Amino acid sequence: MVKIVMLGPPGAGKGTYATRLAPKLGIPTISTGELFRENIKNNTEIGKKAKEYIEKGELVPDEIVIEMLKQRLQKDDTKNGFILDGFPRTLEQAKALEEISDIDVVIYLDVPEEIIIKRLSARRQCKKCGAIYNLLYLKPKVDGICDKCGGELYQRDDDKPEAIKERLRVYEEKTAPLKEYYINKGKLITIKTTKIDTPPEEQVEKIMEALKQKGLI
Ligand code: ADP
Ligand code: ZN
Repeated sequence: MVKIVMLGPPGAGKGTYATRLAPKLGIPTISTGELFRENIKNNTEIGKKAKEYIEKGELVPDEIVIEMLKQRLQKDDTKNGFILDGFPRTLEQAKALEEISDIDVVIYLDVPEEIIIKRLSARRQCKKCGAIYNLLYLKPKVDGICDKCGGELYQRDDDKPEAIKERLRVYEEKTAPLKEYYINKGKLITIKTTKIDTPPEEQVEKIMEALKQKGLI
């Protein structure tokens, strides 16, 4: 049983690593960003409320995210643990999470801003299965087509330059303080990236090592 939070700026690799880590640990990845994109696709009440914030690169209001996450964590597949990708993103959310569940460890992805901006602009995602690619270094075998499911790749609206700038600003203001918060709780592990083309597998190995050292797996 291990409960993990992935923390770090947009484009740091939270989703990329979480989806590779999860099968190794036999637990699900829960991405609030993905949950929102699904809700928007299906035109649900949550989707309707969240859409305008997401398109502008702003955070969705805490009460909406917290309620959505609470419901997701009630599903059976979380009984052996989970990886949270994109939650918490504010101090309010971190405090709410404490009421819902006990987190074991927070993996903080330390990535320089110039790498982040290059990565986000080159990021593409599968419309069908959500797999993440990057035109710079994590290319699909066939242009515009998902390796895993043959789905069409697209660029998220919030990966366009204006929204990227706003997301980074919001990250610094609202989310970066969580680093201190989790250091003080003795839960933070830092994983550093210094090159844009570091293979995800290499970083995932580092994370696995760190989890072992902490006696969590
Ligand atoms: P990234 O980590 O690359 O920024 P995500 O897919 O995690 O992208 O999130 C996309 C968008 O969904 C965010 O910019 C924000 O608008 C919204 N969102 C996701 N998670 C949260 C959250 N915990 N709190 C508020 N908004 C969120
Ligand atoms: Zn796909």
